[in-house]
Amino acid sequence: TRHGSCMQSREVQLIRRPDGMPSREDFRVVESFVADPGDGEVTVRNICLSVDPYMRGRMTERESYIASFGLNEALTGGAIGRVERSRTPDFEEGDIVESFFGWREAFTADAGELRRIRNLAAPPSAYLGVLGMPGLTAYVGLFEIGSLRPGTDVVYVSGAAGAVGSAVGQIAKVKGCRAVGSAGGADKVRHLVEDLQFDHAFDYRDGHLAKQIRAGAPDGVDVYFDNVGGAHLQAGINCMRKNGRIVLCGMIAQYNALGAEPGPNNLIVAIGSQLTLRGFIVSNYYHLHEKFLEEMSEWVRSGDVTYRETVFNGIESMPDAFIGLFSGLNTGKMIVSLE
Ligand code: NDP
Repeated sequence: TRHGSCMQSREVQLIRRPDGMPSREDFRVVESFVADPGDGEVTVRNICLSVDPYMRGRMTERESYIASFGLNEALTGGAIGRVERSRTPDFEEGDIVESFFGWREAFTADAGELRRIRNLAAPPSAYLGVLGMPGLTAYVGLFEIGSLRPGTDVVYVSGAAGAVGSAVGQIAKVKGCRAVGSAGGADKVRHLVEDLQFDHAFDYRDGHLAKQIRAGAPDGVDVYFDNVGGAHLQAGINCMRKNGRIVLCGMIAQYNALGAEPGPNNLIVAIGSQLTLRGFIVSNYYHLHEKFLEEMSEWVRSGDVTYRETVFNGIESMPDAFIGLFSGLNTGKMIVSLE
């Protein structure tokens, strides 16, 4: 619908900083208007929106590698959309573009804020997952941070049935490595082994983490890709092979913690086993994006890497989709579809 010359849209705002686990009442969906594109600008209607665990950190007011979200304004995040109107030669109507103007149905922005997606290897939503930021995170974490040795290493990944984790295990397999994964629930464990070809998977809710890791990696783990932290990291440290690398990607188990969480109490093992524990932020590795996209597109086209999505529909479902990340409602990438 158009009002005057403006396009109508809806956006999600943060109206209260979550205290522990986020709740629906921390958000509101409001009507907004999208300005006509000026010179050098493009108007985009979003096709699908991303919700990601890191957004929880931005909802708290604190010093971090990325600024906190403001209250009573539209949230931001990854989005894939279609160009509706363009006032720059760089974009045409119908182009599929990636932007950071998520959590809203439509927007007008400077052309420099958009990246065109060419030669789609999969439907647009895949560019929020396996072919997007989470896929790049898996790729960078394994190769740059974990120094993966193809054909040799045993890889263990926690949060294995999520967007990043499912890419980690499958890339490890493409590279001839053994892949072990943990996730919450029997269905996810079955998905890892049957659909994603992990060599071994287990349900972390059964407990006995170290014992379960060793069942899948009897000679130890060379690369532990940690998405969870806490007890998972503690168990992982105990299962590493000499000279192992621990990729500190995420610690979702403590994103909603109300106070400081105790760290692992077994870091002394890292001395004797000569381990490397190394964190990273994917946004500092976009110089590898083109190479990643080329390789990952090929793996997706050939079927070596497959992907699953959990889809919520409509802008008003965004808070629920986001909150659902913290109870494991998703298998594969959590997506909000607007079409
Ligand atoms: P996922 O698709 O993996 O979704 C989150 C999953 O985490 C849930 O499905 C759930 O799966 C699991 N989970 C939630 N709470 C807990 C808990 N308390 N204990 C154990 N598991 C839990 O998200 P992403 O793939 O997008 O992200 C995965 C991790 O990677 C996150 O920690 C994220 O912050 C991190 N990340 C880091 C980046 C970086 O630059 N360093 C970039 C992108 C992501 P289950 O049912 O198995 O519990």
